[in-house]
Amino acid sequence: MQYDENLIRSVVSQVLAEVGSPPPIHNGGGGYSGRHGVFHDANEAVAAAQEAFLQLTERTIEERGRIIDHIRRISIDQSEELGTMEMNETKIGRLEHKIAKLLTLGQRAPGIEMIKTEAFSGDKGLAIIERAPFGVIGAITPVTHSLPTITGNAVSMIAGGNTVVVNPHPSGKRVAAEGVRRFNEAIYNDLGIDNLICVIAEPTLETADAIFSHRDVRLICVTGGPAVARAALKSGKRAVVAGPGNPPVVVDETADLDRAARCIIEGGAFDNNLLCIAEKQVFVVEQVFDAMMSAMERAGAARLNSGEIDRLTSQAIAVVGEGEHRHQVAAKDFIGKDAAVLCAAAGKNVAADVELAFGETDYSHPFVGVEQMMPFIPFVRARDVDHAIAMAKESEHGFRHTSMIHSRDVRNMTKMGRAMDTTLYVKNGASMAGLGLGGEGYLSFSIAGPTGEGVTTPQTFTRERRCSMIENLYVVGSPKNV
Ligand code: NAD
Repeated sequence: MQYDENLIRSVVSQVLAEVGSPPPIHNGGGGYSGRHGVFHDANEAVAAAQEAFLQLTERTIEERGRIIDHIRRISIDQSEELGTMEMNETKIGRLEHKIAKLLTLGQRAPGIEMIKTEAFSGDKGLAIIERAPFGVIGAITPVTHSLPTITGNAVSMIAGGNTVVVNPHPSGKRVAAEGVRRFNEAIYNDLGIDNLICVIAEPTLETADAIFSHRDVRLICVTGGPAVARAALKSGKRAVVAGPGNPPVVVDETADLDRAARCIIEGGAFDNNLLCIAEKQVFVVEQVFDAMMSAMERAGAARLNSGEIDRLTSQAIAVVGEGEHRHQVAAKDFIGKDAAVLCAAAGKNVAADVELAFGETDYSHPFVGVEQMMPFIPFVRARDVDHAIAMAKESEHGFRHTSMIHSRDVRNMTKMGRAMDTTLYVKNGASMAGLGLGGEGYLSFSIAGPTGEGVTTPQTFTRERRCSMIENLYVVGSPKNV
């Protein structure tokens, strides 16, 4: 059958115009083509993303896959160059892990295969539930993983048929813009669509606000700390909120302590503890506390004594806010720094390649309650597993983000899982095993706890649409229905 392409285009435009504001009228190739996604003005970025969205709606799912393949290829092939750029700009974390994050996202972020159609059939016919795009999504990304978050978001959002405008963290804006430019250029050269991913080159709170309130932005996805999580929830738009965490670890008397130590170092030291899922404080039952501290040393972590911890704390924990808003936070100069830098501040010299520092503190120590995002982990003695779980729960502040246990007792695992109620709960592994890195499952760098979507996937960024056929197409049913 012959289709009239112009007719289809005009119908699609009309339908989209009915559900949103009319798309800008530009020449055939698109008025913003050639910008490769980099914009200074938020309204212009949204207009370009809307134009790209209209073009994407006319493409096949197979072409969405091809678009994503370009993002994957660049993430993998250029991981070293882009990871180095991210490290040089943000100056936090570890270079090898910046590279590993881009590589892993390129290889493992789920794509179009995650979009699933559901069907119900019966005497009254057939109903199918398909996943439709929202349109333009507004995204906010953190400094801890600037380009990696954009990469993961772009794969998920485009797989779902959307386009995205990103307001990156100002301290990671250059790598964000360069990565986005490279993705768009490759996609444009192959498929002729530009600006599927748009980024604000000079991001501010005002540009974030302009994106939040733009009428053509249909959904918001924020990844960051408490302030941006609150701002998104107040925006008046549907929001996918990947908020902060403070993941605790419990080690009980049945645990394999050497394995637990290796896992805590692997997760807690990765990218110098910048991951929102990373081990942040450990509660060990009294019976095995000293043995666990020895296991940490055997596994290569540097132990600080109480005087050294005091010296580190006085520099690495700051106080902000006034009155009832006064609270402790991680000091900027120490976030994401190497363990050797933290040890030096504590007055202890260690080799540059030591991955993690640790030491004994009591429960009320600031390193327990503050999301430190630096590779020093406090270890707290617990009377028994119930005491350890109670402290773990309180220290997580109700974020319900991530928690870990090392145990061979399935009742203790169950008890902690119930008590913590976290989006990710890892037993006998490093935190990243909860994202399929050393465990089962898939990966994303936006884990939406507060709004409940969990580890985001392409399906997260779709709308449910139902299509019903009445009385027919239930082909295995009774003939009296025909
Ligand atoms: P941040 O909260 O300082 O900044 C995150 C982003 O929000 C930045 O782009 C920033 O410019 C923006 N922002 C901050 N306040 C805003 C406001 N009022 N309105 C609009 N935009 C605002 O966090 P960060 O230091 O970049 O990242 C670390 C934090 O992010 C940690 O708390 C970590 O747990 C969290 N995080 C969560 C996830 C997750 O998947 N849940 C993933 C990564 C990081």
